[in-house]
Amino acid sequence: MIKAITFDLDDTLWDIWPVVERAEERLHDWLKVRYPRITDRFTPLELRELSQEVIAVWPEIAYDRTRLRKEALWLAAQRADYGEFDVDSAFAVFFVARNAVEPFADVRPALERLGRRYTLASLSNGNADLRLIGLHDLFKFSLNAIDVGAAKPEPLMFDLARQRLAAQPEQIVHVGDDPEHDVLGAARAGFRTIWINRTRRDWPGGSRADAEIASLIELEQVLTDWEREK
Ligand SMILES: [Mg+2]
Repeated sequence: MIKAITFDLDDTLWDIWPVVERAEERLHDWLKVRYPRITDRFTPLELRELSQEVIAVWPEIAYDRTRLRKEALWLAAQRADYGEFDVDSAFAVFFVARNAVEPFADVRPALERLGRRYTLASLSNGNADLRLIGLHDLFKFSLNAIDVGAAKPEPLMFDLARQRLAAQPEQIVHVGDDPEHDVLGAARAGFRTIWINRTRRDWPGGSRADAEIASLIELEQVLTDWEREK
């Protein structure tokens, strides 16, 4: 008996990379006016890449994308010789633009239908704000790596979800696009797994998900088939 479905967010419910690139450009435009030595020195992509330098010296904050962005911005300000830097305002510019995502057309209809039969929750490694995006009403609760203190595929987020759902792991289905974070992580936690592969990628190897779908429209059928099997 399946009781609940947990969903990844970025690249599962919307395309994230075009939105991140746009958000990085917005941030760069904002910096250009207020801190021009930063933008003289760093392109938007180079600013993003500073996160890798932060992770190299500070791997324990890698799960926290907000902190990581802020530390990378601090590093940029430092290298551009700004002793004072309004990191919160800079991050806010990025964050608003980062949440200007366009959910795929199948998301709301599919989740509204599924929500009548199952409890729905979201499990994300990113810092999306479902209220800003306008999908918060679809989920009973939402967990992200920042609140939990660990990112998928580590088991903590899955374990906390299972506790909140008051369900056995095999009664929960996790749906996500990332073979490692979502499929491997959820399988290790004992969840049933569904790989959503919207762009027809090849499976990278390792144990496959229990099912694969190209859109959320197919999800209800997969679950119905599973319920029938038993
Ligand atoms: Mg994803």
